[in-house]
Amino acid sequence: MSGWCPRCDAVRAGGGACPECGTPLVIVERPSEREPQRVESVAEVSAVVEGPPSARLRVALGVAAVVLIGLAFVSGRGSGHGPPRAAVAATTTSTTTPPEAVPQAQRTLDWQARPARGITLTALSLRRIAGGDTNGDDVGELTIRVQGVPAGRLLGFVGLELLDLGGGVFATSEEVPLAGTRASPARPTGQDGTYVVDLGPTPGVDTLARITVGGLVLGQPPSGRNRIELNAGGSWPASPPLRAVEPATDSVAIDLGGLRLPTFGGSEVGALPLQVAGAFVGGRRAVVALRLGALPGGPANGSPQVFTRQIGAFPVSARLLAGNRVVCERTVMFGQGPDNAPLVVVDCPTAPASRLAVELGAGVQTISLPATLAD
Ligand SMILES: [Zn+2]
Repeated sequence: MSGWCPRCDAVRAGGGACPECGTPLVIVERPSEREPQRVESVAEVSAVVEGPPSARLRVALGVAAVVLIGLAFVSGRGSGHGPPRAAVAATTTSTTTPPEAVPQAQRTLDWQARPARGITLTALSLRRIAGGDTNGDDVGELTIRVQGVPAGRLLGFVGLELLDLGGGVFATSEEVPLAGTRASPARPTGQDGTYVVDLGPTPGVDTLARITVGGLVLGQPPSGRNRIELNAGGSWPASPPLRAVEPATDSVAIDLGGLRLPTFGGSEVGALPLQVAGAFVGGRRAVVALRLGALPGGPANGSPQVFTRQIGAFPVSARLLAGNRVVCERTVMFGQGPDNAPLVVVDCPTAPASRLAVELGAGVQTISLPATLAD
């Protein structure tokens, strides 16, 4: 296992806390057993090591960022005095890229639905992967382009059906719980607006005749109603380790718009509490880490199990503002990884600015968008 220290901007071996500064490490893990996601997660880890600042930690959909919360992080926040940085060995990951599954057959579709609500769906391609699942069955991947939805917002499709030439079911995509609704997950490919939907047992690609979609599930966008100000005045270090800065408020409760979250002892809440776990500036970057706050009746840092058990993975979006300008936006899924407390990490390249703010959103919205895609 290896983790990334947001403060030192370095990949460290092991789980726990950064040996240099004590900050908990962010661990990037794949959310499920499917091979393509593993390939993607490895790519994310590589981006952490090698990428430019903007790609340093793309805590994107399909990648659960989890952290091992340490008291040192909280108590050390705001002091700005990490231990001196000793010589650090070159950061590398031990991951090797697994061989990508060989597609048995690929078919270009380019089936476009009539635009509706400013959104255009295009089924780009279908591929069949020989022996792609644990039973050795052939599985499939459908690649869809969705234009008209802001980057990073699309989480899944509802009512997705793939029909064969005889009008029967060609293949199905499992709908999973997603913030209180159910949807076929859309995995971002890294190319703007293009997503992959994993299919179960898949026959010959030539027998697919048409695809119908009922709607889209989007993550709630960040809102100025859920805002944390940060005073980042003063000098910013030119390189890591970054300087800790103090938030004006430690926590924010995000209104979930009618969705009730089960908590402990049978109670429910209509707001998601988030706490600033750390905020750092320097190296022409700003990094803010937020974690789940205390839920009523539960321990501090409530377990994300409360999400997964009944309502599934739960998106939290965050954007960083310098003054009034949006610097970047990230979406993280709570409750998708194992039982660790999740962390929302907003890591943005930015010139030094005295006024920073983080705005947040949580939960999903479902858009009805009946569409048929066919030749
Ligand atoms: Zn560190």
